Amino acid sequence: MSENQGRADAPETHAAGPAAVFSSMEQVIRKAGVNRGLRALARLNQADGFDCPSCAWPDPDGHRAMAEFCENGAKAVASEAMKHTIGREFFARHSVEELARETDAWHDLQGRLAEPMLRREGASHYEPVSWDQAFAILAEELNALASPDEAVFYTSGRASNEAAFLYQLFARAFGTNNLPDCSNMCHESSGLALKQAIGVGKGTVMLEDFLEADVILCIGQNPGTNHPRMLSTLEAAVKRGAKLVAVNPLQEAGLLGFAHPQHVSAWLGRSTPLASTYLQVKVNGDMALLRGVAKQLVANDAADHGFLREHTIGFDIYQESLSDTGWEEIEELSGISRAAIAELAALMASGDRRVITCWAMGLTQHRNAVATIREVANVHLLLGAIGRPGAGLCPVRGHSNVQGDRTMGIFERMPEWFLAALEKQAGVPVPREHGFDTVDSIRAMHDGRAKVFFALGGNFAQATPDSTFTAEALRHCRLTCHVSTKLNRSHLVTGRRALILPCLGRSEDDRGRIVSTENSMGIVQSSQGRLPPASAELRSEIEIIAGMAEAVLGDRGRIRWRWLAEDYDRIRDWIEAVVPGFENYNERARKPGGFHLPNAARERVWHTPGGKAAFSDAPLDALRVAPGRFLLQTLRSHDQFNTTVYGLDDRYRGISGMRDIVFLNPQDLVEVGVKPGQRVDLTSHWHDGERHLTGLRAIPYQMPRGTAAAYFPEANVLVPVGHVAEGSNTPASKSIEISIRPSR
Ligand code: SF4
Repeated sequence: MSENQGRADAPETHAAGPAAVFSSMEQVIRKAGVNRGLRALARLNQADGFDCPSCAWPDPDGHRAMAEFCENGAKAVASEAMKHTIGREFFARHSVEELARETDAWHDLQGRLAEPMLRREGASHYEPVSWDQAFAILAEELNALASPDEAVFYTSGRASNEAAFLYQLFARAFGTNNLPDCSNMCHESSGLALKQAIGVGKGTVMLEDFLEADVILCIGQNPGTNHPRMLSTLEAAVKRGAKLVAVNPLQEAGLLGFAHPQHVSAWLGRSTPLASTYLQVKVNGDMALLRGVAKQLVANDAADHGFLREHTIGFDIYQESLSDTGWEEIEELSGISRAAIAELAALMASGDRRVITCWAMGLTQHRNAVATIREVANVHLLLGAIGRPGAGLCPVRGHSNVQGDRTMGIFERMPEWFLAALEKQAGVPVPREHGFDTVDSIRAMHDGRAKVFFALGGNFAQATPDSTFTAEALRHCRLTCHVSTKLNRSHLVTGRRALILPCLGRSEDDRGRIVSTENSMGIVQSSQGRLPPASAELRSEIEIIAGMAEAVLGDRGRIRWRWLAEDYDRIRDWIEAVVPGFENYNERARKPGGFHLPNAARERVWHTPGGKAAFSDAPLDALRVAPGRFLLQTLRSHDQFNTTVYGLDDRYRGISGMRDIVFLNPQDLVEVGVKPGQRVDLTSHWHDGERHLTGLRAIPYQMPRGTAAAYFPEANVLVPVGHVAEGSNTPASKSIEISIRPSR
């Protein structure tokens, strides 16, 4: 990457269009080839095909389009379906140190992992190892631990229901609840807030509700890049007369307009305007905005009093906190005028109040995230806009099966009923003490309380905050082991010994067996890969877990690992026995479109301590920074999915060929004393000191003064491990206090 490579042009005013098709096909053909690539796309998100390994936006009920995927779904498949593989020759050619000097985008281009690899203690290179040897090393290290709680079993949201269930069964049979997952870093704040407010940690809407909603709020979410097929749902709603309100510090093309690539109009250069109202709230100003809406609704006597009486508790106390909150503070913290807030309140209370609020990391990754999401629920309780057609709450999950994994027991603090049911089914004692979540795991590895790290998918070293601290933590381990499809940076930040165990991708045939996933709206459906595996050495996630479990534990109680792994129907029978809502699982999973898990709040049944939906009267809060400092948010480019970087463009924001950038309000560039493109150094400020990221190019962008935005994983080095959301312990990666100086 030479100094002057890369361009910053005017951002797009709409998402998708022909450019999305060209970009998808370019990646598919370059990485997977015409034959393998098109075969994969033909099965992507089809009822008899495989579930997209990218985000968790649901597939349409009933009819599926021939191309039932978006640009980023196609890129995810292109990356996974790569026909080129890397094995012993590749790792003999490249030392771990050399590989670590390469970029994340370069790692993704190298190809599919072909065989198990081992890095011996003190070795500079990985070398091949047999599966049996790999399992023996896992058994040796895990069984040498003084306590099962010295092991950490991490899960990324790509693991299927069956793999996740078997994995948590193994960890608990081994004796620990140390089951951190990527949800800890994304929607943990949503799960906690919704559990407190409405008794279920999931959203309450289905796709069909978008067909009936009159007002749709997208707050703290960038669907154009992170949930792209949502745009066709939003377009259909807007064309039907619904009002889309975007609340986001940045102007995002996917909220402004959409050119549906499967519509002729898009090829004639036309697009559908989406948001009719665009509120560029300050970073972390969302709670103040929502509190203002609630205050205005009460002032307008627009609350649904019948609903309040019958279904809620705590309104009186909340009403007091509304009257105690002044408009000046609301306007100052949100950056939005009282008039605009009043307009929004009137819109939301108009008609039958069929209002859906959607959100993502822009709400969940702040210190006050749980309180902010409770405020979303407060507004919906005031309106009675929950548990009826066209209305409800919609946290949009960013990883294809992150919700399913949680349902399967991937959580460091599962409730007693689940642990008891598992114990009964498995016939082995199950630990009750809560385990480590992601941030706890980093700390435990750093201070030596955890000594073995096992990851089922993901890219832990890059996805987590405080990259330098996390890398030190991983290096303190006796063993780090990753089940992966592609090379990534976590393979290069190793413990004393390290294993890479290559698994089948979702698009690949697993001896005709099906797995299943659960999307953002609680629909469980089957997924079956059809492509020939990239290498004969690959094993399914389930077979790898069973192989490890057999080596480490052997059969225990009623658990027969190999027997369970041979036929996934057996694992689904166990899930049916332990997890409510999975009756006739094997039969229903095979039904085209799958089945919907029960959601009590959708039926206005509240499994809260008080048996009613609960208001929250948390004090209004927002992060304030010292004079001359900025609030930084980390974000994705359009050419990445989580930590996987498919390319160096961010088309919608006008960026091409570079990632070493920071977005700033044009006046703030002047304030810092730099010209567009000039390099700057970022320093984050925290109790325990400073963290640095140097040499980023300053790019002017339409956003509130005093805020900055930079890509993760690169900017994760600036996020202190202790800077987390209260209650959920989610890294607060969307509001980091920084200072900016011109690079020397
Ligand atoms: S919207 Fe999400 S799930 Fe659907 S194809 Fe795109 S990335 Fe995949």
